[in-house]
Amino acid sequence: MFKNFKRIERKWQKRWEKARIFEANPSKKPKFFITFPIPYLNGSMHIGAAFTALRCDSYARFKRMQGFNVLFPQGFHATGEPILGAIERLKKGDKIQAETFKLYGASERDLNNFKKYGAAYVAKFWAKKFIQDMKRAGFSIDWRRTFITALDEHFNRFIEWQYNLLRKKGYVKKGTHPVIYCPHCKSPTGDHDRLIGEGESPLEYIILKFPLETGEILPCATLRPETIYGVTNIWVNPSVDYVKAWVDDEVWILSKEAAFKLKEQLKKVLIVEEVSGYELVGKIAENPVLKNKVIVLPASFCDPKVATGIVMSVPAHAPWDYIALKELQASEEEIKKYGLEPERIKEIKPVSMIKTKEFGEIPAKEICEKLKIKTQAEKEKLDQATEILYKKEFHLGILKQNCGKYAGFKVSEVKEKLIKEFLKEKIADLIYEPSGKVVCRCGTENYVKILKKQWFLKYSDKRWKELAKKCLKQIKIYPEEARAQFEATIDWLKDKACARKAGLGTQLPWDKEWKVETLSDSTIYMAFYTIARIIKKEKIAASKLTNEVFDFIFLGKGNVKKIAKQVGLKPKVLEEMRKEFEYFYPVDLRNSAKELVPNHLTFYIFHHVAIWPRKYWPRAIGVNGFVNVYGAKMSKSKGNVIPLRNLVEKYGADVVRINIVASSEGLNDADWRDESIQAYASRINFLFELVKQLKKAKRKEIKAIDVYLQSKLQALIKEATQNYEELKFRSAAKNALFDSVRELKWYVERNNGMENCNRKVLKESLEVIAKLLAPLVPHACEELWEKLKKKGFIAKAKWPEFDREKFNKKVLELEEILRNSIEDIRHVIKLAGKKKNCYLYTSTKKEFEYLNEAKEFLRRILGFENIFVFRASDKKRYDPQNKASKAKYGKPGIYLE
Ligand SMILES: [Zn+2]
Repeated sequence: MFKNFKRIERKWQKRWEKARIFEANPSKKPKFFITFPIPYLNGSMHIGAAFTALRCDSYARFKRMQGFNVLFPQGFHATGEPILGAIERLKKGDKIQAETFKLYGASERDLNNFKKYGAAYVAKFWAKKFIQDMKRAGFSIDWRRTFITALDEHFNRFIEWQYNLLRKKGYVKKGTHPVIYCPHCKSPTGDHDRLIGEGESPLEYIILKFPLETGEILPCATLRPETIYGVTNIWVNPSVDYVKAWVDDEVWILSKEAAFKLKEQLKKVLIVEEVSGYELVGKIAENPVLKNKVIVLPASFCDPKVATGIVMSVPAHAPWDYIALKELQASEEEIKKYGLEPERIKEIKPVSMIKTKEFGEIPAKEICEKLKIKTQAEKEKLDQATEILYKKEFHLGILKQNCGKYAGFKVSEVKEKLIKEFLKEKIADLIYEPSGKVVCRCGTENYVKILKKQWFLKYSDKRWKELAKKCLKQIKIYPEEARAQFEATIDWLKDKACARKAGLGTQLPWDKEWKVETLSDSTIYMAFYTIARIIKKEKIAASKLTNEVFDFIFLGKGNVKKIAKQVGLKPKVLEEMRKEFEYFYPVDLRNSAKELVPNHLTFYIFHHVAIWPRKYWPRAIGVNGFVNVYGAKMSKSKGNVIPLRNLVEKYGADVVRINIVASSEGLNDADWRDESIQAYASRINFLFELVKQLKKAKRKEIKAIDVYLQSKLQALIKEATQNYEELKFRSAAKNALFDSVRELKWYVERNNGMENCNRKVLKESLEVIAKLLAPLVPHACEELWEKLKKKGFIAKAKWPEFDREKFNKKVLELEEILRNSIEDIRHVIKLAGKKKNCYLYTSTKKEFEYLNEAKEFLRRILGFENIFVFRASDKKRYDPQNKASKAKYGKPGIYLE
């Protein structure tokens, strides 16, 4: 069966290509511009990306049939670390990387070439495979407009223009900010340059300085500086070697890792000597705010890799501290091991300093007891308890009387102020950590570095944020529930490093040691699609694409004759590019997976409002979930990544397409299962079978059942169109395939076989169904279209519109009554047993006529010898038990004999 699908697909792909039906040039027709994000070239398309991309393709096909001049182009991403990182791993003999490449169709020889020829070779190799795979899957793309970022000189010129302009407008600035940093690449690591840790950002810890009696400072790092009012002791890890070091003009004792990080965060650090954690236990320090004395105690949970490796203990409000203190107090042996006085240790009591309605005096105790936590070894539970308590106390907590001048305030209100004051009084400092583990695609673990004079996009700019919000308001979001995340992202977005020193990318035109990073050169490239075909057609050299040329094309600035003369191009060519941009822009729909909402899709909005006036702002954004495989998340390490190519090879494109696209809608994740293909395949085959048998249909006159089928299809047209419009492909597939096939089967059944069907009605219905299905199952529908003897491509056929003339609500209702009557008769048969004759009595004329026409069908499916239909008011009716008196509207009386 699948072999046949594949044969049909080859045929139509060839014909589409020959007729160039997906190439879009400006015309008098209304346009529709749709885009799918450019994929990285470190492999080919897997079903995860295919889900998103096929949503775009199905929508493009739908809009094309609605009469729009649809532009659906596709470029590729080579910027940053993804490709270089993959080659690097390959060179190191990384098996997973080699397997991944092979999975997508690289041979052993290709792998050797990858190592030998490097990134540009690899990128071009995969771009070719991507295009092959997408063509085989039936994507309706205008391939004349493709490009590869970072490697295409023309594209680099475009990015240089973009960044010159952003800088001129004040959106790109030099600044000193903490960034997630890769020491191997010597560069900030953006989200898409990461192997692990997408979405993580620098997290600010507050260091509170507790001086020892000998003058050195114990820098205690915390996310909750307000809890300084509840400190009972300090924790160090007795098995860790700390260091004594000059930090600016003070002497601190801290972990070695912390000393390194602080140096990377612009402190002057000079290590003096090592100090063992064991030695620190028992020492006395002073609380810098309350000025009381606190003792240094041992705790195994103190991690030298996190912040300073020294922690202030707040057992009333921190579950970790509460458990560590309890454990120590319970072990006489442990206390003596460090030469501590048992009395002194045991008398340490939690100091309660935050009030919430939910908790009593010692919240940490309550939550540890609730979660049954006993020891520091129960890490997951302790982290969970910490998170719960932190959130509750931050949002709802009020500082108690023992909190000095902050007493009576909400924690959330006073936190920022308190940090500012502590910093001003120099009793506090800052250290940054990544909010979660981050590993660069080169394989190196990253940390936070404060980069001096780095180039940043000023996403914190209030005016810029306002514009982005204004734009978001007018963007249609599918589904609407995704809007809140866009709003939140615009609000919290901070300045973001936009350049790296390592990796592939366009050089910053004014500071050439920096290259624009991957999430920063992919924000307005949709505009480049509009002119890419002309650049190729006219063989324009990249050097001729000056800032003035782009200013003219994209902003309409300058005198075209003058600019053309300057660069040695014909004014006509520049005008053609300007026209093409003006015709196709803005983007009507951009669709992507939900993971791109907090970065790429929001940056897309920011950059458009920075560069263009309102009329070129994005019109709609579609967002979808991920693809699971048999319910499990897809990942390289699990080995369950499925290339689109393999599925298309196995089943053919059409059933794979519909099996992915119709798998879910809204923000729900899709789920790939091979076995669900069968349900689609059998229905598509049914349509072919019906077209084949069409010539058997002989009836010419129109019966009620024909009107019924026509009406039902009108309802399906209405519903399917609405679902397509909102990218609800699961529902659209239900309408176009499942509902329609069910109705066709019913129609044939009701006519007691093909011979009695009305050929014209059936043929017209099949035409409508083929059209409704074509965006999802394009090849098979072309074949059906041809077999129905229709001219031209179905891909360009006119989308069916709801026709009130063909919609008869009354007939739909009567058919419903008929179906209910069948159920009723079956019920009576069950009670009365099988009989020879069936007598039906109807209360209305229409019903009478409808049942009378369906008599033969009823007789056959219910297995009677005769069926008689009477009007209930008919005086001459045969009705020995007066069942006619039971007849009501929509419910005939039934008598069996
Ligand atoms: Zn790196």
